[in-house]
Amino acid sequence: MRAAVRNAHALRTVSNTRRAAISVAQRTLTTSCARAEEHESPWGINSLRKFTEEEVMLRDAVRRFAENEVKPRVEKMDEEEKMDPKIIQGLFEQGLMAVETDPELGGAGFSFTAAVIVIEELAKIDPSVSVLCDVHNTLVNTVLRKYASEHLRNKYMPRLSSDMLGCFCLSEPSSGSDAFAMKTSVKKSSDGKHYIINGSKMWITNSGEAEFFIVFAQGDPSKGYKGISAFAVEKDMGVNIGKKESKLGIRASSTCTVNFDEIKVPVENLIGEEGRGYKIAIEILNEGRVGIGAQMVGLAEGAFERALAYTFEREQFGKPISSFQGMQFQIAQVATEIEAARDMVYNAARLKDEGHPFTKEAAMAKLFSSQVAQRAAGYAIEWAGGQGFTREQGIEKYWRDSKIGAIYEGTSNIQLNTIFNLVAKDKGLK
Ligand SMILES: Cc1cc2nc3c(=O)[nH]c(=O)nc-3n(C[C@H](O)[C@H](O)[C@H](O)COP(=O)(O)OP(=O)(O)OC[C@H]3O[C@@H](n4cnc5c(N)ncnc54)[C@H](O)[C@@H]3O)c2cc1C
Repeated sequence: MRAAVRNAHALRTVSNTRRAAISVAQRTLTTSCARAEEHESPWGINSLRKFTEEEVMLRDAVRRFAENEVKPRVEKMDEEEKMDPKIIQGLFEQGLMAVETDPELGGAGFSFTAAVIVIEELAKIDPSVSVLCDVHNTLVNTVLRKYASEHLRNKYMPRLSSDMLGCFCLSEPSSGSDAFAMKTSVKKSSDGKHYIINGSKMWITNSGEAEFFIVFAQGDPSKGYKGISAFAVEKDMGVNIGKKESKLGIRASSTCTVNFDEIKVPVENLIGEEGRGYKIAIEILNEGRVGIGAQMVGLAEGAFERALAYTFEREQFGKPISSFQGMQFQIAQVATEIEAARDMVYNAARLKDEGHPFTKEAAMAKLFSSQVAQRAAGYAIEWAGGQGFTREQGIEKYWRDSKIGAIYEGTSNIQLNTIFNLVAKDKGLK
């Protein structure tokens, strides 16, 4: 188990020496554990601000990693449109690429909420690094953890915990929102030992650096979406990485076309059952959307914090610009929206951890957080005036990065669609 999660994990596993572990871990990771205990509700119900001790320690460790390792590289990575390999290595070394994975398979065995904390903290500093970690944890690892055979879990999860980056291949040039209209095909080889995959996926996050691919393919178009299956595919099986997109935002995150030309995948690499791919995709994207919500909340917080500090330094008319009521009201409004978005994200995450339905809450959290991120980052530029518009302050990047929140893992219209259907159903009208 790696650095950032090791001490936090100790709190749970070594219960008889719990206090001693806390004090050792506190010295190395945090000074704020006591605060979590102080917030224990006597009624047994906690606010969404209540984190467990291990969550607090994890958050503080990620915060330090983001400040010390990510922050100094953000500008260069954005300019060069390239993720520094040291960041990926660092995320693995810190144990942040297997947050929910079973410790026996090299992971931390933490909750989904813990993964959300990691994604939020990274996004405060760089939403590109955040989405790399998010896709790997909430989509790739989760598909294997929930649906793959023991053989596949044992084969791939230790490497996905230590050094092998993964990506999630659903979208295609002609099927984005209508994802199940995919053209990528799969058929069994004549000897029955392999599946043969043909086709192309588009806009695949992490694909520039990934060695592992969760691939959705259509095996029987006459069955419609029920003909779709999911596969665990290694790059060495012959995956070809095509065009890398040059983007408006999250530029350090690789987004490429991924081609499969008669790729032979062993039959045991089918994830779940044949024809269940659509169900896997639908269910997994519910979790993914909470992750994107966390990315957008972290982004909004990052932009807000930087611009707020500037409003206390910058003077006009002989006073800090934060002393003008016109500025104060905008700041208060944005702070309120971030608070609401954050509560929606953590509510969805806690619902998921508690085993409750959370599809509607996930869609709402993703929709609203992406709207708040855009507004917060837009205001942050305005509050910093000309400085905000230049690259120097690093504020305009948040605004560029925010736009993707309304597009991937289901556009805002698709979230609204889901929300409407579930609201109507809740009210017995559908
Ligand atoms: C940077 C980036 C990273 C990505 N990463 C991944 C990844 O890792 N894996 C992956 O599989 N995909 C990925 N995607 C693809 C992403 O999920 C799709 O772009 C997204 O689902 C939208 O599909 P589309 O681009 O084809 O837009 P379209 O589906 O063509 O939508 C265009 C517009 O039409 C609207 N629209 C479509 N259908 C409806 C409807 N029924 N009702 C109302 N409005 C509708 C949409 O809301 C949108 O405004 C990524 C995309 C980007 C840009």
